[in-house]
Amino acid sequence: MTSSSTTAARALDELIGLAGRPATPDIGDAVVLDDVAKTYPDGTEAVRGISLRVAAGESFGILGPNGAGKSTTIGVLGTLVKPTSGRAWVAGHDVVAKPIEVRRRIGFAMQDVGVDAFATASELMVLQGRLHGLRKADAVTRAQLLQRLVGLEQVADKRVSALSGGTRRRVDLAASLMHLPPIVFLDEPTEGLDPRSRGAIWETLTELRDRLGVTLVLTTHDMDEAESLCDRIGIVDHGALVVEGTPESLKSTATPTLEAVYLHHTERQAA
Ligand code: ADP
Repeated sequence: MTSSSTTAARALDELIGLAGRPATPDIGDAVVLDDVAKTYPDGTEAVRGISLRVAAGESFGILGPNGAGKSTTIGVLGTLVKPTSGRAWVAGHDVVAKPIEVRRRIGFAMQDVGVDAFATASELMVLQGRLHGLRKADAVTRAQLLQRLVGLEQVADKRVSALSGGTRRRVDLAASLMHLPPIVFLDEPTEGLDPRSRGAIWETLTELRDRLGVTLVLTTHDMDEAESLCDRIGIVDHGALVVEGTPESLKSTATPTLEAVYLHHTERQAA
């Protein structure tokens, strides 16, 4: 184990103590989508009736080509997009009827969204903790632990605007974890990152799932990411879920790799 991974492992031990809950929280299905559809005001049918369940402590990947409806789907779960029809529950709460209850239980890491580029990484994280009702001293302690977990100690006092894209991604992830949510949504968490930064984020997410029982729902284009992070995946095309299962169960003699599975189920798009 390298010294940075030892530091991260110790930080995670302390965070698990702070979270004060069993590794797999007793919330049954973390995510339920029941025939969810979204048509935007301009008439675009982004999601056309998606149903799926994600168990607590599971990691689920939503794969699909550009424009398939992945971000809209995860936006509904994160209470950012109101579905046109159907219902969705997160941690047992209806996303439309109880958005505040949902937001208290989720972290949402998106590309650069909500990042005030003039704040430092620490300021941003402490603010996020305060918004979730943490006392200042607790927010500072937790921010330091999370910075150690994702390897941000060296840049904690730098302005976010001065950081590289990969480091900003880690700031955003760490900020989304300030209230130690049992469920985390990630929209393309490692897009455009170099292999080392990508691996560091995968390691953090895997640890959060395995040791803290965090449920992960992520969108991705990256087959390696889906394969190494996700217990199950769902492939979305033209706003519909075309297939779901474990990466292994979806492979066959005709489609021996996840990429082949993906291409097989989305070939209408490519044709
Ligand atoms: P993905 O994340 O798979 O790329 P999105 O959910 O972002 O897909 O988009 C699905 C479809 O909805 C696309 O055709 C996109 O252009 C459209 N769309 C997304 N957001 C909006 C919006 N706010 N208004 C109108 N159309 C949108």
